[in-house]
Amino acid sequence: MTKLAIDGGPKVRTKPWPPRNKRFGKEELRELKEALDQNTLFYHHGQKTKKMCAKMARVCGAEFVVPCSSGSAALHGATKACGVGPGDEVITCPITDAGTLLGIVYEGAIPIFADIDPLAYNITAATIEKRITPRTRAVIVVHLAGCPADIKPIVRLCKRRKLKLIEDCAQSWGAKVDGQWVGTFGDFGCFSLNDFKHISAGDGGLIVTHGKEQYRMAWLSIDKCYDRMTGERGLDFVAPNYRITELQSAVALAQLGKVNKITAARHKLGERLSRGLRKIPGVNPPKIPMGGYATYWFYLMQIDTKRLGVDAKTFCQAMNAEGIPAHAGYVDPVYLSYKYLRRKTAFHHSRWPFSAAKVKPNYKKGICPNAETVLRNCVNFGVGEWMSNREIDDALAAVAKVAAHYRERKRGR
Ligand SMILES: *Cc1c(COP(=O)(O)O)cnc(C)c1O
Repeated sequence: MTKLAIDGGPKVRTKPWPPRNKRFGKEELRELKEALDQNTLFYHHGQKTKKMCAKMARVCGAEFVVPCSSGSAALHGATKACGVGPGDEVITCPITDAGTLLGIVYEGAIPIFADIDPLAYNITAATIEKRITPRTRAVIVVHLAGCPADIKPIVRLCKRRKLKLIEDCAQSWGAKVDGQWVGTFGDFGCFSLNDFKHISAGDGGLIVTHGKEQYRMAWLSIDKCYDRMTGERGLDFVAPNYRITELQSAVALAQLGKVNKITAARHKLGERLSRGLRKIPGVNPPKIPMGGYATYWFYLMQIDTKRLGVDAKTFCQAMNAEGIPAHAGYVDPVYLSYKYLRRKTAFHHSRWPFSAAKVKPNYKKGICPNAETVLRNCVNFGVGEWMSNREIDDALAAVAKVAAHYRERKRGR
């Protein structure tokens, strides 16, 4: 049996892991200086936000782009612009960031969770359809970890059932289906510019959409319901100030010039990893839908715990000992981990909106079994454009070694 490094054997890799590259440089500095020289940092008066939105529209192929202060703000704005309100249900993914749910709950609607495909990690038309009720108004699909969801059947389902479709692309900059950017399939696509995403402006968000009315509604929803185009301030509804500043837009403008290079590098590394993993029994790469192009914000592989007789945590400890960074799991399913969902206490001294729900939502263990299993058995490996094939090949060698060890041990028992 191959002696693992964790048992005192030789390590697959002794070379230290490469640090992240420098993300910001002279391009960002030049844009920032120009922004300051305008003598205004207000997005509506300066040029950087306008230019950045035009650039985003070109890069992703959207008709309209609305800028805002974060990915969460983009999602809240899009949810509001869909007309989501009290009494509505919004179907979404149980594996996500708090930002996906924030707008639903703030607007007084109820988040309903559809299960994921066990290999693709994303919700599907079939799992969404099971959750549709007469109260459903919208669906928020999360393209998780840079892997595009099988979006075309979801678009057809939403059209057929007259549901609004929002795509949460915070983790999936540049991911595509049949050459088209995710985010441009539904009514609204939401992107994050927070510091941990493919590109960063420190913080920031973008809503992409089509059609003048959706565009106008998205603007109103992120800027206090002030209509900057007409100057009208009738305040038809309550809306927060989620404005971006010219400083964020300046950095985002420069970062958008780099996004295709960053996502292409991550795509190549991730695909190399998937090709190698397919040859290793007991370990599964993520399934990408037909025509899909993944940009791997991080990389989730799954351990077949029955076949290997080992859990993800032990597997990761063995990987780490071989000199490869990886950790078990990602987040927990949000319906189990968010206290405000479990206790139905989103707002202080009130159980609204859950108390007003016609049908009380069920947030118990077992409602999305695939999501629970995937999160229990996944190994989370960081992919980055600063890495080379060498890191991928070393990771593959370590996975192959560790998996072979546990397969043999299982057989020997
Ligand atoms: C990061 C993230 C968000 C929120 O973005 P912020 O800019 O941090 O508000 C929303 N959804 C997903 C899936 C994310 O990963």
